[in-house]
Amino acid sequence: MIETMQTAEWNCTKCGVTNRKLVKQDQAQANDRCVTCHARHRLTRDARPVRWNAVAKT
Ligand SMILES: [Zn+2]
Repeated sequence: MIETMQTAEWNCTKCGVTNRKLVKQDQAQANDRCVTCHARHRLTRDARPVRWNAVAKT
């Protein structure tokens, strides 16, 4: 089965930088680390498909 991938953009809540992560088309959430400060975040799909909500993980 071929999965269609899309780019999820999210803003780091620590340093504000924009990060990008490849996610599956039907994926609702993901985990990623900021490329700049390496803070872990949980990402959830927003109404806009490209811009995702990010919440820092402690
Ligand atoms: Zn950051």
